[in-house]
Amino acid sequence: MSAAPFLECPGWCPVCEQDVVFASPDAWLRDGLKCSACGSIPRERALMRVLAELAPDWRRLALHESSGCSISSNRLREQCPGYVATQYDPATPWGHKHPNGYRSEDLEAQTFADETFDIVVTQDVFEHLFAPDRAIAEIGRTLKPGGFHICTVPIVRKAEGSVRRARRRPDGSVEHLAEPEYHGNPMDPDGSLVTVDWGYDIADYLDQASGLSTTIHTIDDLSQGIRAAYIEVLVSRKTLPSAVDLDGASDRRPRRRKPFAALARRLLG
Ligand SMILES: [Zn+2]
Repeated sequence: MSAAPFLECPGWCPVCEQDVVFASPDAWLRDGLKCSACGSIPRERALMRVLAELAPDWRRLALHESSGCSISSNRLREQCPGYVATQYDPATPWGHKHPNGYRSEDLEAQTFADETFDIVVTQDVFEHLFAPDRAIAEIGRTLKPGGFHICTVPIVRKAEGSVRRARRRPDGSVEHLAEPEYHGNPMDPDGSLVTVDWGYDIADYLDQASGLSTTIHTIDDLSQGIRAAYIEVLVSRKTLPSAVDLDGASDRRPRRRKPFAALARRLLG
């Protein structure tokens, strides 16, 4: 006999786009609140909702997802002919396609040409990177002007500053600065090490490392099954160079940027 669910409610799923029932067996809605039709979880529904709002024509665009392994990843692959999946797979030469269908890429040093993609997607990847500054800079390089990176990443420290948990030594070994914490990873039976506990200052960090402009979307909408801890969606947009010249003014002083060095030094050590 199964216990009554902690939470159960009807609604509309932004991943499989139909009327469904959302139910969670316990209070940890982040992993528990699943769609009765597709099985998606809240952060996936939050991401797909923001994607559809910002790019209703995403099915016709060139889309790159790094390390995608979720139900929403399958949805993107099925629905978007221009979807390219990559995985961090050092056993396959970078830029080559694995028989399983993905292309082997290091997100921090990609083989894609500049301005290849309209949209880059990462889902719970940025808390596992050793060089998130290089990853976002590479994402910025491979985005077309006007394109954007859309991602989920647990902002566990909220208004407190981001803290690095682990870093890579010059010899390639890993130095742990906090008790090692791992999340499940289908590419690695040992799981993925958490390298950074992010706060909201991730937006400044990403912008200063890449020149992109980041907005954090926080959604609480049970009618679409979007309710849980740590389901923020970040959108980092690559500016169109001419988009803000409303009056033909030539006074275009470069935007003053806060020095990246201090933030990077604190995070990267
Ligand atoms: Zn669904």
